[in-house]
Amino acid sequence: MSTEKFDVVILGGGNAGIGVTGPARRAGMSVAMIEQDLLGGTCPNRGCTPKKVLVAAGHALHEIERASVHHIAVGKPRLDWAALIDREKDLIKDIPANLARSMAKRDVEVIKGHAAFAGSNIIRVGDRDLEAKHIVIATGSKPRPLPIPGAEHMITSDAMLSERDLPSSVIFVGGGVISLEFGHVYARTGADVTILEALPQLLPALDTDAVARLQTESERIGIRVKTSVGVKRIEPANGRLRVVFSHQGAEHAAEADRVVNGAGRVANVDTLDLAAGNVEHANGRIVVDRRCRIRRSCRRSRPMRVTSSAATSSKDRNTAPTTPAWRRRSIPCRRSPQSA
Ligand SMILES: Cc1cc2nc3c(=O)[nH]c(=O)nc-3n(C[C@H](O)[C@H](O)[C@H](O)COP(=O)(O)OP(=O)(O)OC[C@H]3O[C@@H](n4cnc5c(N)ncnc54)[C@H](O)[C@@H]3O)c2cc1C
Repeated sequence: MSTEKFDVVILGGGNAGIGVTGPARRAGMSVAMIEQDLLGGTCPNRGCTPKKVLVAAGHALHEIERASVHHIAVGKPRLDWAALIDREKDLIKDIPANLARSMAKRDVEVIKGHAAFAGSNIIRVGDRDLEAKHIVIATGSKPRPLPIPGAEHMITSDAMLSERDLPSSVIFVGGGVISLEFGHVYARTGADVTILEALPQLLPALDTDAVARLQTESERIGIRVKTSVGVKRIEPANGRLRVVFSHQGAEHAAEADRVVNGAGRVANVDTLDLAAGNVEHANGRIVVDRRCRIRRSCRRSRPMRVTSSAATSSKDRNTAPTTPAWRRRSIPCRRSPQSA
C-alpha cells in the first residue's frame, strides 16, 4: 500500500473539521478531510439546523397560544407533523452537496470512509494510508450509551428528527438541552411529556436560577419534571414502553409511546484506534493540553502535531466519569504536553 502525504489530515467533516480547512489552506497547506457519513456532520444534518425547524414550529404554537394577549382571536391550531418533518428534511437536503462544492473550491480533498490511526502520523481509510504532518481529530460525539436493562428500546435525537408519526406521549431519560428542546416541541403539540433526570437539577451544568425559570415554564406547558431519579429498566408494556424508576425512596413506573435517550453525548473516539496512534486517552476522551494538543504515549515515532475537538483537558481527567471496561487501555507512560 503506498502512502500519500498531506500537510494536514482531518478526521471528521463536521463543523469542527470544516472550520480547520480554511486557515490551513490559506496557510498554503495541503489538506485531506475524511468523512464517513454526511459532510457537515451533526449540526446541519441531524442536530442544530433540523431541530430549529421543529423548534420554530413549537415557537409558532406558543405565539398562537399567546395571541389573545394581543386581542387576536385565533382558532385551535392543527399541526401536520409528517409535513413538518418533510419540510425539515427538505430544508437540509442540499447541505452536504453544497459543502462538498465549497471544499472542492478550497482544494480540500474529501475522502469518504472511516478513518483510524495506523501509526503515529498515519491515518488509514479504506485501502489508503495518509501520512500527515498535522492530524486533526474532529470526529464529534454520539449519544451516551446507558447501562440500563432495556436501553435498546430507547430512541435518540436522530430518530426524533426523522419519525413522521407524532407520539402522544414521550419520556426523556436525562434532562439535558436536547430533552428540554424536544420536550418543549412535543408538549406544544399536545403530547404528554415526562423528563427523568438522575441529578438533583435539570440541565445540571447550567445556572440554577435560570434553570428554575425554565423548569417553571416547562411545567406550565404540562411537562412533568422529576429530578434525582434512578431509572431501573425499560420494558415493552401494552404496546407501549414502560420505564421503571426510583424516586424519593419508592419505585414508580410510567408508560409512553417513546422513550428517548436524553442523557447527553460522549466523544466519538472509540473506533479511531488511538493506541495505534500513541494518542493518550482516558475515560473515553482524548487527553489534551490547554491548546487542545494531544499527549503522546512514549511509543511516539516522530514529531508531529495532533489536535482534538473530542477532548478532555489534563486538569479534568480525575473528575471524568467511570471508564467502561471496553474503553480502558493501558497508557504506557506520561510525557509533558507536546509542543511540536
Ligand atoms: C439534536 C442536536 C441538536 C443540537 N443543537 C445545537 C444548537 O442548537 N446549537 C449548537 O450550537 N449546537 C447544537 N448541537 C451540537 C452541535 O451539533 C455540535 O456541537 C456540532 O455538530 C459539533 O461539531 P463537530 O464537527 O465537532 O462534530 P460532528 O458535527 O459530529 O462531526 C463529526 C463528523 O465526524 C465523522 N466521523 C466520526 N468518526 C469518524 C471516523 N472514524 N472517520 C471518518 N469520519 C468520522 C462523523 O460522521 C461526523 O460527520 C446539537 C446537537 C444535537 C445532537
